[in-house]
Amino acid sequence: MAEESSSRDSAAPGQQGVPSQPRSSRSWLAEAGDALISVLFPAGCRICDRLLTRASRVPICKECLSSFERVAAIACEVCGRPLPGWKRAEGQPLLCPACQDKTYAFDRARSFAVYEGALVRAILLLKFEQIEPLGRWFAERLVELVKGRVDGLQADVVVPVPLHRQRERERGYNQAALISKPLAKRLRLPHKAVLLMRTRARPDKRILSLEERWESVRGAFATRPGSQVDNLRVLLVDDVFTTGATLDACARALREAGAKSVFGLTIARAVRNPLPDSSAW
Ligand SMILES: [Zn+2]
Ligand SMILES: [Zn+2]
Repeated sequence: MAEESSSRDSAAPGQQGVPSQPRSSRSWLAEAGDALISVLFPAGCRICDRLLTRASRVPICKECLSSFERVAAIACEVCGRPLPGWKRAEGQPLLCPACQDKTYAFDRARSFAVYEGALVRAILLLKFEQIEPLGRWFAERLVELVKGRVDGLQADVVVPVPLHRQRERERGYNQAALISKPLAKRLRLPHKAVLLMRTRARPDKRILSLEERWESVRGAFATRPGSQVDNLRVLLVDDVFTTGATLDACARALREAGAKSVFGLTIARAVRNPLPDSSAW
């Protein structure tokens, strides 16, 4: 009995040895995978430093990407400004004070998420490091935004808000075009990066007040001479909607050149912007 038991015992390590082979090859594969990921993403998530473990060229982890706070559904029907707690009056469109005053020259504007937290950092990465996969990821979010609209999206061309020529030369690219180009491709619309131009550079000083923001972009954009704008429905793309002054100035230039409609789309929406709140009106 003792021998039998010992022979079973002696057989045991061999039986255990059989499954140990695939285990070691699995761990080899896992190590190779980790090595590949560390080659592709040596620095981890560019926002929180967490190790990036999935096959994506966006250098931001899924926790950070899912932390972006979507703009609330209760929002101004024209400019998309979130209006928490507001109620639609029977038969009346829900409009923020600025849109009740017909402030903007664009027909509609919508944004993907609120400009705060990780999204501020993500936009800085796009803006200063030209991370194209991030631009494509943002473009996908804008596609979801326009596809979800009940009234559909009527557009003929996609146009990025332009930088001044000199600024674009210094930077080497326009961050808005990193979003608008893949967006146009996904929507199967022509991308017209040269339809609009910025004729006056942004002032170097930090703009603080609402008036300064509006003043700095008033008349700063024009359509390029010779470009066909007449009757076009334009999808205008930018990274951040702060006061709406930039989209407004671009929309004015497009409308003067004969554009039929202008729909603004931005990744982020500043909600703590210097527009007066409803109690101040
Ligand atoms: Zn992260
Ligand atoms: Zn509004």
